[in-house]
Amino acid sequence: MSPEPSHKLDRFGTSIFSRMTDLAVQHNSMNFGQGVPDMPPEKNILEAAQRQLLEGPNQYAPSIGVPRLREAIQATLERLYGLSYDSKTDITVTCGATQAIHSAISGLCEPGDRVVLIEPAYDSYAPSVVMAGAEVVSLALTPPEYRLTEEALTKAFSTHPRVIVFNSPHNPTTRVFSRDEVALLASFCVKHDVIALSDEVYEHLTFDDCPHVPLATYPGMAERTLTISSVSKTFGVTGWRVGWACGPQKLTDALRRCHQFVTFAAPTPLQLATAIALEDAEHNGFYPRFRAEFGELRDLMAQAIDESGLRALPARGTYFILAEYGHLSDLADIEFCEQMTKKIGLTAIPMSPFYCGEVPDTRVIRFCFARFKDTIEQGRKTLSGLADKAGSWKP
Ligand code: GLN
Repeated sequence: MSPEPSHKLDRFGTSIFSRMTDLAVQHNSMNFGQGVPDMPPEKNILEAAQRQLLEGPNQYAPSIGVPRLREAIQATLERLYGLSYDSKTDITVTCGATQAIHSAISGLCEPGDRVVLIEPAYDSYAPSVVMAGAEVVSLALTPPEYRLTEEALTKAFSTHPRVIVFNSPHNPTTRVFSRDEVALLASFCVKHDVIALSDEVYEHLTFDDCPHVPLATYPGMAERTLTISSVSKTFGVTGWRVGWACGPQKLTDALRRCHQFVTFAAPTPLQLATAIALEDAEHNGFYPRFRAEFGELRDLMAQAIDESGLRALPARGTYFILAEYGHLSDLADIEFCEQMTKKIGLTAIPMSPFYCGEVPDTRVIRFCFARFKDTIEQGRKTLSGLADKAGSWKP
């Protein structure tokens, strides 16, 4: 006999990213699944990290984050979006955006509160809601357009949620929600007095001159939005675990109360290196260079997908691109990704695990194009002939 732990998170199983990566390793398959860049970060920020480690400080940072980083975040948000935050009272540094989301939900919600998730939703949101003792309200977007509609918002807000989690550019759909859709969402938040958590970690990955407009800039939203971002995607250092949350003092205080007891503080030298990355990016042309580089990779990946017989969907944001396969196979998306790994040797991510509520008929899979050009070229060759083979795949 042994004591029983709680089973409250059992239904979430192991994350789809870990599962598909394990399968890719097992079958020696090219991994276009997990959203992690192949290419090394820019040299200036690696040198900054090295210097900070050698010279210190290497002890705890203040729980809310080192002042230099909070000030760099404040300056960046002001310059890019005209958002004004007080670095002392409104900005908190966390261990990645994932912890910011967790601490925000825990700090903001009472047990039993409802939290709206726009699904397909990033896989950490729902477990964070459950860990807070709150309840998920699923607002499902349907392929291939994944549009946010008044009807879906009306239904979700009729449950009297305390919080809605928003994400644009959106993982996994790759959508940059239109101004009309975001304005509609904002009007619901204002009307129903709901708090918004806006996950904007892909803020610098928008293409085709499609601008990123933070939710907090919409009328009535600054006082009810915690905006979350991180160093990970923008500077290609997902392992640093440095993220941040910005918002009005009342919401920030709620997040900080939780954050201080979860991780206390993010790694000090990497916070300082992140500050230097943000400061340098102000004058070294980093953001347009980054966008152009990834725009080119997106185009290459779209071409590889279309050539294979899969159908690429438009990808305006994030470093993911979706592909439809329903015209080639009747398999469910998890099975299709498993077969593609085993039979073709290339791994993508299915969409159904990103739904916590009802899953719409989804024959769509996600590819990550944060890969070297040569790797995408190799992927193109690996995928060729898929159209002839996929029809015979069995679960
Ligand atoms: N954010 C990445 C993705 O969407 C993966 C994160 C993870 O592996 N936990 O693929």
